[in-house]
Amino acid sequence: MGRPVGGGEAEPVTGSAGRALPVLFTAHGNPLNALPGTPFGRFLGEWGRTLPRPTAVLCVSAHWETPGLAVTAGELPPTLHDFWGFPEELYRLRYPAPGTPALAARVGQLLGGAGFPCGLDASRGFDHGAWAPLRHLFPEADVPVVQLSLPEDLPLASLLDVGAALAPLRAEGVLLLGSGNLVHNLALADFPHREAPVPEWAGAFDAWVRDRLLARDSAALAAPWEAGPSGRLAHPTLEHYAPLLVCCGAADGAAEAVFPYEAFEHGTVGMRCVAMGLT
Ligand code: ZN
Repeated sequence: MGRPVGGGEAEPVTGSAGRALPVLFTAHGNPLNALPGTPFGRFLGEWGRTLPRPTAVLCVSAHWETPGLAVTAGELPPTLHDFWGFPEELYRLRYPAPGTPALAARVGQLLGGAGFPCGLDASRGFDHGAWAPLRHLFPEADVPVVQLSLPEDLPLASLLDVGAALAPLRAEGVLLLGSGNLVHNLALADFPHREAPVPEWAGAFDAWVRDRLLARDSAALAAPWEAGPSGRLAHPTLEHYAPLLVCCGAADGAAEAVFPYEAFEHGTVGMRCVAMGLT
């Protein structure tokens, strides 16, 4: 883990405050979606071509949990192949986007100023929750990327405050990207059938999230296990859901959520994607 960063020393990443960038939540699901030619990968490629070009991406992925908060602060973070038992070609993929220590410092400044000390981790690489979608969204790997961890010790509602603290980055050209799955029960998933039937509870929870996002009901979204019996089935653990809360906090007051992709894979892996603040 790196050192904690207080406030004060980091400057905004860009000098020009332009139109604020949207906040995105992307699914990632099966690591095989990192390969070319999957339906979800094709969607991400098309989605990426519609996005305003950011100066950098700040990604919050389900696959990096730490005590407290941490950001990647290396110049060239390595590609982490943090999955097991997949085809060899997946392990040969690299996503060579540069890091940006300046943005890492800025993130530390913003979070520290909001009461969330954040360490700088100069050696940590990009996990597949980040690079698998990013290699479709920005295939040239020419947009610098910083990853922010999920804090193991903070309640979900605090992630709204973490996101709110990061909201100024949107006007500094930074694209905030959450990566998880809005329904994620691997124990009940039907591998290898991508088109497996979707259980009623999975569809119900996905619709509940959609409707709460449309209502901008962040308080309800911060308590997913209270969403009837479907909440705990949809998320036996919460790490694939938690990035959504950071996104909601960063987008509070922004335009209505839109859903550029709605699907399930393997029955119980929700692939819904969300954009907030597009207009
Ligand atoms: Zn995942």
